[in-house]
Amino acid sequence: MSPPVDPRDLLAAAAAADLPLAPPRADAVAAGFPGSPAHDFGKIVTRVPVAVATPRDRDELARCVAFLGAQQVPFVARGTAHGSGGQALVDGGVVLDLRGLAAIGAPSPGDDDVVVEAGATWAELCDALRPLSRAPAVLTSNWHTTVGGTLAVGGFGDASHQKGPQVTMVRALEVVTLDGARREVREGDPLFDFSLAGRGQLGIIAAARLATVTRSDDLRARGVVWERLDHFLHDLASFATSAGAEIVRARIAWARGRVRGAVGAFGAGAPRLPPLLGRLGAETRVDYAEAGTEGPNRHWEAPCPALEVVIPWEPADPAGGAARLEALRERVLAAGLAPYLPLGSAVMGTGPGARWPHAPLAPLLAGSSALVVPIRPEVPAAALPRVMPGVKDIARWTYDEGGKLYLVGVEAAEDVDLERQVGPALAPWRELHARYNPSGLMNPGLL
Ligand SMILES: Cc1cc2nc3c(=O)[nH]c(=O)nc-3n(C[C@H](O)[C@H](O)[C@H](O)COP(=O)(O)OP(=O)(O)OC[C@H]3O[C@@H](n4cnc5c(N)ncnc54)[C@H](O)[C@@H]3O)c2cc1C
Repeated sequence: MSPPVDPRDLLAAAAAADLPLAPPRADAVAAGFPGSPAHDFGKIVTRVPVAVATPRDRDELARCVAFLGAQQVPFVARGTAHGSGGQALVDGGVVLDLRGLAAIGAPSPGDDDVVVEAGATWAELCDALRPLSRAPAVLTSNWHTTVGGTLAVGGFGDASHQKGPQVTMVRALEVVTLDGARREVREGDPLFDFSLAGRGQLGIIAAARLATVTRSDDLRARGVVWERLDHFLHDLASFATSAGAEIVRARIAWARGRVRGAVGAFGAGAPRLPPLLGRLGAETRVDYAEAGTEGPNRHWEAPCPALEVVIPWEPADPAGGAARLEALRERVLAAGLAPYLPLGSAVMGTGPGARWPHAPLAPLLAGSSALVVPIRPEVPAAALPRVMPGVKDIARWTYDEGGKLYLVGVEAAEDVDLERQVGPALAPWRELHARYNPSGLMNPGLL
């Protein structure tokens, strides 16, 4: 435990070092998410920092990190704080707000990589790439999150059934370690491998070099309704290799047990789909940039005890997968969550974890495919005590089924079983943590 920080001493030392640290503004804290450094999307955890650091470039970021390390102050990296468990919050420490670090390198026509600073949002990156008809291959349903904040957890999206999580797009990283060093790392370097989905335990991602793909926003999509879960999983399995199913969105309506969604591909004359068991609607042209992203909207207003689960799935066995999804459904219903999930929950498929070897901490299942189910209920504050035991029951069930939690949800230390979460990657991760973040001051609370 580090001694409590005296805010006046800290701010005076920061001013002397010409670093952008300021006390949290009382009006911002009172207003809550998204502007408050004491709150996150979940609106359940409140942690009040003594100061907020707002570096404007990578050099200043490195100087801030070195300064906080030297001052022995706990600090957390914050992108847009779209987690629900206080992951980007700290009591009595410093919030390192990365939104000011949002430069996007000019993408050159002959090169499919782009260098983007960690605080840029995916929406900003898409806007910068659009004139070149390029885009990130995988986008989550929320483009208002930062590149750094999503690469620090994984990033599952509507192309993950074919391309894996967003961390698979990363070709290089610049990581700032607690000593203030800016380190350029690539696949195979442990600092690279264990920074992806590593929740900033080893360093702060300052920038990433991402592979992009050529595509327009012109999506040809067809709605699909699946009355049976096994039919949905049968079709989801076939989408993994279908050129007509570049994009798959599906949501389970928990009370009814039905799945609705859309499937499509980019460009004129999109390729045909394989024969499906779901009921297909007519083809429509969709502007992916307009339709592709959630919120902010009224569904973002209530407290959200999110629990995002990753459960094993054998694509060749739709009946077995349906039984597991049905077991999850029973728990969601027993927890009383269905009324608070008016939009249902997304269900995404991933290919076998072994296909994405350079991100050992990503919440994938080694050698097995997985279903990713983000359960993000909108729960009035008064109802939280009633539903929380059921949420925790689902977390335990997930581990018992051989699954993992996606570490962006409501998360008490006792809910996260790191042995089951990262398996054989835990020992090397701990060794790297001792080397790069020896005092544990940077993003405390996980390792
Ligand atoms: C409405 C909604 C929809 C969502 N949809 C999806 C989805 O479709 N797919 C999906 O995968 N996820 C989804 N999420 C989850 C979201 O992608 C993650 O919570 C992601 O972490 C948000 O990015 P952020 O910028 O808000 O990160 P933050 O919440 O600010 O940070 C996340 C974690 O990473 C750390 N961190 C932040 N920046 C850095 C950095 N530069 N270097 C090192 N560590 C850092 C923080 O300390 C924290 O532990 C959704 C969330 C919401 C609220």
